[in-house]
Amino acid sequence: MTDNIQLCTTEKCTGCKACGDICPIKCITFKEDSEGFYTPDINRDVCIKCGRCMKTCPVITPPTDTNTHNPKTYHAYSLNQQTVKSSSSGGIFVELAKSIISQGGIVCGVTQIKGSLKSVNIAIDKFDDIQLLQGSKYVQSDASNIYSTAIKALTNGQKVLFSGTPCQIAGMKNAVGKNKENLFLVEVICHGVPSYRFFKRYLNQVSNLSPSYFEFKNNAIWDYDTIMYDNRNRKHILIAKKDFYMKTFLNEEIFQNACYSCPFAKLPRQADITLGDYWGIENYEPHNSINKSGNSVILINNEKGMSLLNAIESACYISEVELKNVVKRNHNIYEPSKYKPQRATIYSDMDRLSLSDMAKKYNHRFTIRNYLGFLKRRIKEIFI
Ligand SMILES: Cc1cc2nc3c(=O)[nH]c(=O)nc-3n(C[C@H](O)[C@H](O)[C@H](O)COP(=O)(O)OP(=O)(O)OC[C@H]3O[C@@H](n4cnc5c(N)ncnc54)[C@H](O)[C@@H]3O)c2cc1C
Ligand code: SF4
Ligand code: SF4
Ligand code: SF4
Repeated sequence: MTDNIQLCTTEKCTGCKACGDICPIKCITFKEDSEGFYTPDINRDVCIKCGRCMKTCPVITPPTDTNTHNPKTYHAYSLNQQTVKSSSSGGIFVELAKSIISQGGIVCGVTQIKGSLKSVNIAIDKFDDIQLLQGSKYVQSDASNIYSTAIKALTNGQKVLFSGTPCQIAGMKNAVGKNKENLFLVEVICHGVPSYRFFKRYLNQVSNLSPSYFEFKNNAIWDYDTIMYDNRNRKHILIAKKDFYMKTFLNEEIFQNACYSCPFAKLPRQADITLGDYWGIENYEPHNSINKSGNSVILINNEKGMSLLNAIESACYISEVELKNVVKRNHNIYEPSKYKPQRATIYSDMDRLSLSDMAKKYNHRFTIRNYLGFLKRRIKEIFI
């Protein structure tokens, strides 16, 4: 029994929802805060003060660090080029998912609901459903019930590949308790998440075409262009360097407040295996080893991570590289994104200004560094 039950304030809460899922009497609900981020609310009339929510919250009770401080690091991509084209980086997640499903396991990850364009964490157990989870959705996902779903499968003796942001992984580590032999954790390198409400407002304003589906990658090209499908399934490509959402996202202006002090953007990492983009690859790896449609970087954080990599070895190009090169263009491996002054007003402005006024006010701040990075990737594509 714990007398003083307090969960995170909105400034610290990651919105991982692990506390709500683990509460034995389900007396935690989630509201949206003033900016649309998920925040817990305890019904104190029925709370039995068992303290499980606080023990599960990865911010209040950080999981013990048992992973290596110096992970082996790899450049990798799937040998199936169609998989690479339709994934955000090198399609490694798809190969991991196939491996676990072929062993009778389930895979937990994030899908986007057609129509509402909300991102939610779901569990799948069929090869055909892997595509539902494929690709990054650069928005906060709703992780309701995913922890209990994974725990139930583990109790049934199934293998579970649990993927998500590092805060969701840390929530799962606290939620699972001792029954973790069959649990395999895969995290994305994460620089932060905007709220679904912000994303929805942007979509409503970006066109009058009733967007029904959104892809945060323009298929074969490895950069941040996005594709919006309208309600007649017509395709509209949004160029990252002109697009308000991707520009403010890449400039780290629209993340949840907790992301700017993220306790999980550090080494050692949270998951068994960490996946990200190998930005800057052209400076370190042989030209003929680079896949023009996407290149993953993989960090192996413990023995389970190595067993996952070994299981997909024959389906992938894999080559060991130096962590020090990878972190130069991927600082979120070891530190959170930096708070930007414009973050203080951008959410309230989004509620009252038109998208063109928002673009005028905020997009001139798109840093020269990001723009040069974008140009560099485009130039690289032309020569590959
Ligand atoms: C919000 C976010 C921020 C990211 N920031 C960076 C970064 O700064 N640097 C970097 O190198 N890589 C970043 N990534 C990771 C990168 O975009 C790729 O997802 C990663 O390299 C894996 O690529 P893949 O080709 O192997 O698989 P993909 O098929 O592209 O991977 C998809 C995986 O991401 C999960 N996922 C998708 N959307 C979400 C979401 N909203 N919340 C939680 N999990 C999600 C899916 O469940 C699946 O496991 C980010 C991803 C997300 C979702
Ligand atoms: S203390 Fe126990 S009952 Fe109360 S909200 Fe937390 S988990 Fe639920
Ligand atoms: S468990 Fe997650 S959602 Fe609950 S208070 Fe902690 S950070 Fe917030
Ligand atoms: S930056 Fe940290 S707190 Fe924010 S979504 Fe990513 S892992 Fe969670």
